[in-house]
Amino acid sequence: STERSTAAIAAAEAHSAHNYHPLPVVVASAEGAWMTDVEGRRYLDLLAGYSALNFGHGNRRLIDAAKAQLERVTLTSRAFHHDRFAEFCAELAALCGKDMVLPMNTGAEAIETAVKTARKWGYRVKGVPDGKAKIVVADNNFHGRTTTIISFSTDPEARADYGPYTPGFEIVPYGDLAALSAAVDEHTVAVLLEPIQGEAGVLVPPAGYLAGVRRLTAERNVLFIADEIQSGLGRTGRTFACEHDGVVPDMYVLGKALGGGVVPVSAVVASSEVLGVFRPGEHGSTFGGNPLACAVALEVIAILRTGEYQERAARLGEHLHRELGLMVGGGAVEAVRGRGLWAGVDIAPARGSGREVSERLLERGVLVKDTHGATIRIAPPLVITEEDLDWGLDQLRAVLAG
Ligand code: PLP
Repeated sequence: STERSTAAIAAAEAHSAHNYHPLPVVVASAEGAWMTDVEGRRYLDLLAGYSALNFGHGNRRLIDAAKAQLERVTLTSRAFHHDRFAEFCAELAALCGKDMVLPMNTGAEAIETAVKTARKWGYRVKGVPDGKAKIVVADNNFHGRTTTIISFSTDPEARADYGPYTPGFEIVPYGDLAALSAAVDEHTVAVLLEPIQGEAGVLVPPAGYLAGVRRLTAERNVLFIADEIQSGLGRTGRTFACEHDGVVPDMYVLGKALGGGVVPVSAVVASSEVLGVFRPGEHGSTFGGNPLACAVALEVIAILRTGEYQERAARLGEHLHRELGLMVGGGAVEAVRGRGLWAGVDIAPARGSGREVSERLLERGVLVKDTHGATIRIAPPLVITEEDLDWGLDQLRAVLAG
């Protein structure tokens, strides 16, 4: 029976704002790469909470770390020190090869923090005249949902009817180094980019682009902010997507998998010259850097330190892209992009919209999410087995065959 699902979906429709259009599945439990709905049906999760669940549902190490911390202390606020805070900041800074961390909770908050950091750095260190700071961003970006962040979005859905918009941003085409160079002027404090654009459809920039951005920003005394909220922490087969291009940004913005899908944890990580601009009272968050968040994130960092998941994402990612590559040109798949266990698959319009393909996959026990009409994203938990991944790909082939 689907009675329980139907009732839960109807109640959600009645009592929650319709800012999402979820697939009609009501999840009750999950483990590894699999979720189970309220009727006991099982689904292979090929979304992984938009990459928050890189280490899988119910990851034993993360659950144990959370449980142990729950029994000790969960929140102190930053009015006081707590005994997991310094350890978390030091470990995360070391993972990033930086000195300092500013912890927040959600990705959008961390991006807001990066914007505030860059502006303050511009005024206090670079010497930009007050109120003139400019940040250069890319078209088709996705950095979050706050009013300032959607002010520099080029997606009408994300942006319409939320004005007046925050000024101080210039948008250039993603992947176009000449356009970026032309946009950077003496008031520019930062360039903010996703090393791979996730929500845009897993767009990988041209080879050499990120290295070019690194060179240009260094030459012009501009901070390079890499939004690795979705691309980072193992997803692409490296700890950071920037590594594929041999690039070290001035600021990493992290979120999603930093909390292991257990708690929201985000952070800006940078050198002490950059994050050193803050003085007490100038920025903050009640929950940012709380003991529970730090305990879970410390376990995430320890997991990443083994390199096991990066290696897994690289190996299974090669397999995924080989298999998806074979589907291109057969009439059903127009293009495939991505890196590691992360792919954007453009469906030929004749085979249905991304949403329709997602719904047909749901019927076969596979969960994916469409984006921008014709694209579906594949980003399973990195714990997925090769057999399960192959089974998921079989379902995709079956759905696309009609
Ligand atoms: N930046 C990127 C690259 C993202 O993919 C996301 C979320 O999808 C965000 C920022 C915003 O994160 P959050 O939803 O936690 O605010």
